[in-house]
Amino acid sequence: MKDTLYRLLEEKRSELIQMSDAIFDDPEYDGEEYHASALLTDYLERNGFAVERGIAGWPTAFRAVYRKGSGGVRIGLLCEYDALRQLGHGCGHHMQGPCICGTAVALKEADFDKPYEIVVYGTPAEETRGAKITMWEEGCFRDIDVALMMHGGPDTCVDEKSLALSNYQVIFHGKGAHAALAPEQGRSALDALLLCFNGVEFLREHVREDTRMHYTISETPGPSNVVPARAVGAVSLRSYSRDVLNDVCRRFEQIVQGAALMADVQYELIQEKGLVNKIPCYALNDIIMDNARACGVPGIGPVRKKTGSTDFGNVTNHMPGCCVRVKFVPSGTSSHSQEYVDAGKSDAAHDAVLYGAKILAGTAWDIIRDDTVKDKLWEDFRRAKANA
Ligand SMILES: [Zn+2]
Ligand SMILES: [Zn+2]
Repeated sequence: MKDTLYRLLEEKRSELIQMSDAIFDDPEYDGEEYHASALLTDYLERNGFAVERGIAGWPTAFRAVYRKGSGGVRIGLLCEYDALRQLGHGCGHHMQGPCICGTAVALKEADFDKPYEIVVYGTPAEETRGAKITMWEEGCFRDIDVALMMHGGPDTCVDEKSLALSNYQVIFHGKGAHAALAPEQGRSALDALLLCFNGVEFLREHVREDTRMHYTISETPGPSNVVPARAVGAVSLRSYSRDVLNDVCRRFEQIVQGAALMADVQYELIQEKGLVNKIPCYALNDIIMDNARACGVPGIGPVRKKTGSTDFGNVTNHMPGCCVRVKFVPSGTSSHSQEYVDAGKSDAAHDAVLYGAKILAGTAWDIIRDDTVKDKLWEDFRRAKANA
């Protein structure tokens, strides 16, 4: 059966690669991925999927379904297609939609002698607002038993964890004044922002060592001869544990209050994005890596222990899920880089689209063909969640 799936995917190679290149050539950002979303949904519709465009308040999100028979496993296939401003497709998201949609159509055409359902979700704005967070809140993903994804990378592997994340915007409101003639009348918003950053530096010593804290000034307050009336900063806090991070967030909020008190200014603290850490499903990771070896994908590496943050974590908190990384750049290459952009339309990237689809199609078949696998995955997921 896997040979049939591989053959069906090879027949689609040029069409999938054309889509990948077209999405690469027209990078779209932050929920405005209209071209990519249209390409992918048209492809799924042409191939017999029932498509809903614009779901959960996201115009470029979509859901596409194919069902055979009644009952059976519901395989979820999720893809992203947003790029990075100023860089373009520096995270390789242009490869995901073609890979996932190719997988979905091959699973339909394979016409297994079993009941099953394939549900494809297009999930916008991963790099910025993380559509999967509100898509879950709006009721998406409840209709799948397992969530599968593909992401290009420097090695072919799976992840064990991801960092929980809280992003903040902090705005201090002071009082402007002439910095030489009447400084006593001013209250500096910039002083408060610098005190806030210093507070984060002192906090750094007293947190668990996987904690990450980074910040930047996102609005510059003006010339030096005017006491700055407004200063805006951005702060990101991360940890592999959401519980640990919640306490770091509480202490950060105290730092902001303290900074405002010291500078005698007002503040606004806006939490922009909250991600939970991924719950691993080791049994699913194993099936995926078995399928990686079976299709001869290059560059198989160890499980990734050190990872960034992703809104896929907010899905894998609710069900067994896994994103396979497929090699298309040299080992050690960082994502969000010019190297990723330069490799975006390479033979290696084109191959990664196909290899990713073969791995995920093979994995889906392993779950569909044996009725006991789904329960094993859920048992494993529940155990990992209890220990997280
Ligand atoms: Zn990224
Ligand atoms: Zn990414």
